[in-house]
Amino acid sequence: MPIVAPAHAEPLIRNDETMRYRPFGRTGWQVSALSFGCMRLGEDQERNTALISRAVDLGVNYFESTRYYLGGTCQHKTAPGLAGKTAGVIVSGKERINPDQTAYLFRKEIERQLDILGLTHFKFFQVGWFRWENMPHLLKRGGVLEAIRRAKDEGLIQCVGFTGHDTPENFITCIETGLFDSITVPYNLINRSYEPTIRRAGQLGVGVVAMCPVAGGVLACESSRLRDALQMDLPTTEMALRFVLSNPDVSTACSGMNTLEQLEENVRTVRNFDPAAQGDFAAMCEGLDRLRAELGDKFCTACRYCMPCPEGVDIPRHLDLYRQWKAFGLEDAARRGVARMPEDKSLARCTTCGACVAACPNDLPVPDMLAELARLAEG
Ligand code: SF4
Ligand code: SF4
Repeated sequence: MPIVAPAHAEPLIRNDETMRYRPFGRTGWQVSALSFGCMRLGEDQERNTALISRAVDLGVNYFESTRYYLGGTCQHKTAPGLAGKTAGVIVSGKERINPDQTAYLFRKEIERQLDILGLTHFKFFQVGWFRWENMPHLLKRGGVLEAIRRAKDEGLIQCVGFTGHDTPENFITCIETGLFDSITVPYNLINRSYEPTIRRAGQLGVGVVAMCPVAGGVLACESSRLRDALQMDLPTTEMALRFVLSNPDVSTACSGMNTLEQLEENVRTVRNFDPAAQGDFAAMCEGLDRLRAELGDKFCTACRYCMPCPEGVDIPRHLDLYRQWKAFGLEDAARRGVARMPEDKSLARCTTCGACVAACPNDLPVPDMLAELARLAEG
């Protein structure tokens, strides 16, 4: 593995005719407002190559990848599209952290991912699937931080971020350690739980990569409720990107794209939308808060106190679909979600035993809500 000098001074590529750029925290880099999540590439390699290559041409300069996505093929599928185009582009790799992780294994994984991608170094490397409870495994002697520091000294990585799904409060504590240059968390119109974390990241100069800006495709269906709340007469996916990028603390919206049409449409949205000119993030949040308030007390906090259901019903997932429908008017997404639920977790298994109602701290009439959802799915 060749050792290279750090290249912080190398500017990232730009294409100001098609893309907008935003500061990436305190790194000094300007990252494209739209970034590319490589976890949704498809089976057709020619198409993957054309898609990634076109994204670079359109000015996308951040690609999120790890060896683990797509059954271990994500970086193999990403690399050909980047061939000859990696100068001035951030391709992030990612390795997990757990009690068994060591500096040696973490280092080996950095090298392995570099080899697959054909890179000499990572401008960004992520500690993946991170939680506050994993901090001891980061800090321990012979742990992940040792590997990161050494790799930084040798120029194998330049900046370090983390991704994960811990609580917003725990992630605030994580970024307050000062150990990370970026945080990657889900953030979109229907999932704003990390908004306080994103605010804190902005205050600390930690870059924010907003993943799932269209909620994994849930926001691909139309909603008049969302249009009214946001005062925008636009397709939902466009409103979704606009919303995420209206948050001044978000550095980039990382979308998992797998067609040229999606890519070009998202690039157009980003290009045509100047959040600084519109500047009305607060009004959008108020509109969304109103929708949420209209749902009243019928709101599942996904605490999972009701789980496991004796019949196997995945209650929080169904109630999330219920919320998408009732709060945001995403009926089609809710129908599709019910149809896609594995049979052994399906609402059809509910016997109305009431055990979940007794366990729910929010007093939710779960069987009634499931029955309503079932009627929507059948209708
Ligand atoms: S009422 Fe239905 S969902 Fe709730 S615990 Fe009983 S079977 Fe499960
Ligand atoms: S206990 Fe209530 S709030 Fe918690 S996951 Fe179950 S239904 Fe949702």
